[in-house]
Amino acid sequence: MSRIVHLNGDWLPETEAKVSVFDRGFLMADGVYEVTSVLDGKLIDFEGHCRRLDRSLQELGMGNPHSDAEWLALHREVVARNEVVEGMVYLQVTRGNPGDRDFVYPPAETPQTVVLFTQSKPGLADNPVARVGWRVISVPDLRWARRDIKTVQLLYPSMAKMAAKAAGVDDSWFVEDGAVTEGTSNNAYIVKNGRIITRQLGNDVLHGITRASVLRFAREAQMEVEERPFTIAEAQGADEAFITSATAFVMPVIEVDGARVGSGTPGPVSARLREIYIDEMRKAAQ
Ligand code: PMP
Repeated sequence: MSRIVHLNGDWLPETEAKVSVFDRGFLMADGVYEVTSVLDGKLIDFEGHCRRLDRSLQELGMGNPHSDAEWLALHREVVARNEVVEGMVYLQVTRGNPGDRDFVYPPAETPQTVVLFTQSKPGLADNPVARVGWRVISVPDLRWARRDIKTVQLLYPSMAKMAAKAAGVDDSWFVEDGAVTEGTSNNAYIVKNGRIITRQLGNDVLHGITRASVLRFAREAQMEVEERPFTIAEAQGADEAFITSATAFVMPVIEVDGARVGSGTPGPVSARLREIYIDEMRKAAQ
């Protein structure tokens, strides 16, 4: 089925939505994005994604082309027009088309490019992979130093995903100065003696919206949370490991660089957090 996408105020069949070759998103990766999951035709953790979008735009000196209410209406409309029950909404805002290529930003009044599209993913919540878990390898973190801004410059994460694929595993974890920063498109965690350990927030990781919710639910369930860096060796000696992201929710990790984590099967803490997260998100979905 051909999708209807949103482009700068218009609703168009995907084949008719065109962006200029001079768009700074295309030429300079000068744009930010968000991915919001859809369950039961409703948006998950939407406010968090709106907050982070606003922050990413601000950090890059870009205005926000829409109010939260307008973003919500656009998200709902793209979901409805494409009859998405389970899946996600992708949103991208670029600095627009200055009409030429130049390192200097165009004047602030240059219209930004705004795109929304959907991807249907039946089985997002009841994902059989979550019962098996992911295997990951480690790769050096060679990304730029402002990973807290959700930009569309995703080449190195793509390379790391390809390295994982070539190694026959599911994902890569980035390592910097001997410690894990995060996964290619997710935040990374280990569990040791009932304690959930994940890197603290800073410019070196994306401030995951799923991370914020999952840590809140963990604390509410009286689980201990420690925000600090951890090493690959620690992960290999942990009882459990997992990742979080808007589309994977909570996904157990059962192997790190060829070494089994814990029993080598998804652990109880990851399973519980996944269940709590999905239940709570369904209740709060908009
Ligand atoms: N880190 C990186 C590098 C990511 O790309 C993502 C997903 N966009 C995440 C973490 C997880 O963030 P969220 O939970 O908001 O999807």
